[in-house]
Amino acid sequence: MTNQDTRSLFDIKDGERNDYQMTRIDQEKRTVRQMMEIYCHGKKHTDKGLCEECSALLDYACQRLDHCKFGEHKPTCKKCPIHCYKPEMKGKIREAMRYAGPRMIWYHPVAAIRHLLREIAK
Ligand SMILES: [Zn+2]
Repeated sequence: MTNQDTRSLFDIKDGERNDYQMTRIDQEKRTVRQMMEIYCHGKKHTDKGLCEECSALLDYACQRLDHCKFGEHKPTCKKCPIHCYKPEMKGKIREAMRYAGPRMIWYHPVAAIRHLLREIAK
């Protein structure tokens, strides 16, 4: 029996069965990507994918997630006590998140709500 078999069925959200197989870090990366896309497209940087600056920012964010010492137990970055971003990147990502945050609820409601719940949870 693997670890996942013992997880509560309540962890499976409607239409999100793939998430069941994803690690928390993967979910966070996906959420960051979704937010960067909303930001980049909303700001009309580019029509497809991400502009150079936003993809550099996304790469940086994913890299930080990979090195996050909390791993699967990490809090959302907003609540993280470590603040591992360098100041320049922190400013940029904060701007993007501030723009995309309120819009997430329309584009990716499940991811947005999950993220919110995690912020409230601890
Ligand atoms: Zn962009």
